[in-house]
Amino acid sequence: MHRDPSCIFCRIVAGEIPSRKAYEDEELFVFHDIAPWAPVHVLMIPKEHIAGFYDVTDAHTAMLGRMMALAPRLMREHGVTNGFRTLVNTGQDGRQEVPHFHVHVMGGPRPWVKG
Ligand code: 5GP
Ligand code: ZN
Repeated sequence: MHRDPSCIFCRIVAGEIPSRKAYEDEELFVFHDIAPWAPVHVLMIPKEHIAGFYDVTDAHTAMLGRMMALAPRLMREHGVTNGFRTLVNTGQDGRQEVPHFHVHVMGGPRPWVKG
């Protein structure tokens, strides 16, 4: 599996940078955002280093589908039953800060910090 030793999210997957883990399986890792916008704010990532949405190919469709199926399940598990937002920032104009593909999933009662 491709990993980038200088990537902070690859380092989180490897346990080199601590995180609050919400879910893990063979290909996915989910952890709580360090600066949450909402009462529940997790980042879903592939364990493999994929830099961003532009780098996704047909080889990733099963993994992406599994991520989409996981999001509502995780929100329910965290008590989020009144709706949530799902966001992927891509590239410079998309304001992507961390170049390892990730899906934000944010929920919980409003008001939120942002979003
Ligand atoms: P982006 O702007 O790239 O879509 O979002 C990156 C997200 O990663 C931000 O919401 C930011 O708070 C979060 N983040 C950045 N560094 C860390 C970290 O070291 N740990 C955790 N848990 N989240 C991080
Ligand atoms: Zn990475």
